[in-house]
Amino acid sequence: LSEKLQRAFKNLRGQGTVTEENIQEALREIRVALLEADVNLNVAKELIEHIRERAVGQQVMTALSPTEQVIKIVRDELVDLLGKDTARFQFASRPPTVILMAGLQGSGKTTTSGKLAAWLKKGGHRPMLVSVDVYRPAAREQLKVVANSINAKIYEGDTKGEAAGTALVERLAKEARREAVITGCDTLIVDTAGRLHIDDNLMDEMTRLKALLAPQEILFVADAMTGQDAVRSAQEFHRKLALTGVVLTKMDGDARGGAALSIRHVTGQPVKFIGTGEKPDAFEPFHPDRIVSRILGMGDIMSLIEKAEETLDKKKSEEFARKALSGDGFSLEDFRDQLRQIRKMGSLQNIMKMLPSVGPFAGMQQMAGQVDEKQFVRVEAIINSMTPYERNHHEVISGARRKRIANGSGTSVQEVNQLLRQYAQMRKMFKGLGKGNVLQRRAMGMM
Ligand code: GDP
Ligand code: MG
Repeated sequence: LSEKLQRAFKNLRGQGTVTEENIQEALREIRVALLEADVNLNVAKELIEHIRERAVGQQVMTALSPTEQVIKIVRDELVDLLGKDTARFQFASRPPTVILMAGLQGSGKTTTSGKLAAWLKKGGHRPMLVSVDVYRPAAREQLKVVANSINAKIYEGDTKGEAAGTALVERLAKEARREAVITGCDTLIVDTAGRLHIDDNLMDEMTRLKALLAPQEILFVADAMTGQDAVRSAQEFHRKLALTGVVLTKMDGDARGGAALSIRHVTGQPVKFIGTGEKPDAFEPFHPDRIVSRILGMGDIMSLIEKAEETLDKKKSEEFARKALSGDGFSLEDFRDQLRQIRKMGSLQNIMKMLPSVGPFAGMQQMAGQVDEKQFVRVEAIINSMTPYERNHHEVISGARRKRIANGSGTSVQEVNQLLRQYAQMRKMFKGLGKGNVLQRRAMGMM
């Protein structure tokens, strides 16, 4: 996968604008990456369209290569889709806050109920657990074991002699809530029965529980390993219950997390937590950016980009040096590019420190301490306010033009004058160097 992606992006490198053609292959590979990560086909298609719209026609910013730019768009788009404020929880104004766990059998509801209780406890809450999975005695016993292991309260209730059915489920739920109020618990986590497949009985029961408890949160627990099945059931549960969030379990496996994207897309509800193991503490708030990296295998791509950027930067500064030292000298446009590059690399002070402390640069390091980063921003604003022609033919910048530029950049004519003066000096200095000896130029690291 990432090899193909690398190739796709390699072709994008070094092109000026992101176009329909040069993005085509990259998009195709991104689509494959999404599908391989279990993203639903329709979701993938829609995403790709968004990305195309956002990317095509964009002027490649000087600070970013087209590759980087497309990646950034893909990332942004995916992170946007997944939502940013994910682990936020709605608490009831009058406790207890009720959290209803929904999902198919084996998805991890019981395990997650325990994890959630542990997480809430750590956050200073007083959770109470209850299982209304009356159809399988072992299921209620399982929650009890979990609750004991994390020292959380559990309402067991009395089920002896009563037939398993919705009436019992409702009674237990009501009693548990009363118990929570009496014992001062601020949250009630209701673990429910699952089925292997969605059926009407299950949905009826869930609907009744919802009406009875008016839960603040209805969390859909989905096994990330089940991919598209999880997406379909999420859609069904959401239609009937109006979910408020999703917990993706078994993210410790090799599931690539595409289900997160698809479930988010079909329900519109955020993934709030992920489960990363069987133990109660294998649980964490969901971070969209991490999943996006996982989906796109971004680790590899990112390091690749960094490398590409390095060579790109190096090539640019070499070009700049060659121009600056030549008879033509460098233009204000080149100057701005260099400034941008320098700013991208870090603070001016750090750059200055990297310069050799001999020859024409002696004293510059000392000067660096006095350089104001804001000055940088102003200089760039001034150059931005010039027309491209002016940037390449500084000699035409007359008094009237200077005034216009100052106005356009929110600076003063004095500042524009100062910049032009400095620029002229630097140009001259570099040209002089060009005629100087080779050793001197070597010392500058420009040859
Ligand atoms: P329920 O039927 O929805 O209540 O599902 P359970 O909570 O009983 O979980 C089913 C199985 O999945 C159990 O064996 C759990 O230990 C396991 N499980 C749940 N969450 C995770 C997880 O995040 N990672 C792993 N590896 N296993 C999990
Ligand atoms: Mg269970």
